[in-house]
Amino acid sequence: MPEVVKCVSCGSKEKLEYFSIKDNGIKCENCSKFDKSVIRINNSTLYAIRYIVMSDAKKLFSFSIPNSSVEELKLVSKVYLEEKLEKGYRFDKVIQSKK
Ligand SMILES: [Zn+2]
Repeated sequence: MPEVVKCVSCGSKEKLEYFSIKDNGIKCENCSKFDKSVIRINNSTLYAIRYIVMSDAKKLFSFSIPNSSVEELKLVSKVYLEEKLEKGYRFDKVIQSKK
C-alpha cells in the first residue's frame, strides 16, 4: 500500500504535491526535489488517490473527480502499476495460479 496521508520521506502534511513511484507514496515539495521518480499531482488527484487507497473495493464504483485530475490519475496509476509489475507482481501469473 502506498503512503497517502503524509510525506513518505519526512512525515510532513504540508505541500503534498507529488507522488513518488520509487518510494511508494506522496511527497512534500521539499523531499520531491531529491527524487526523480515523482509525478506532480494537484489536490483533487491527491484526494482521489487517498480515496482509492483507503476505500474498500466495493465502494470504488462511485466517485467523481474533475477532468483535470483524470489525466494525472491515469499517469500515476499507469506508472505505479508498471513499476510494481516489474518487481514481480505479474497479474497473468496470479490469474494462472488460481486455475
Ligand atoms: Zn517531505
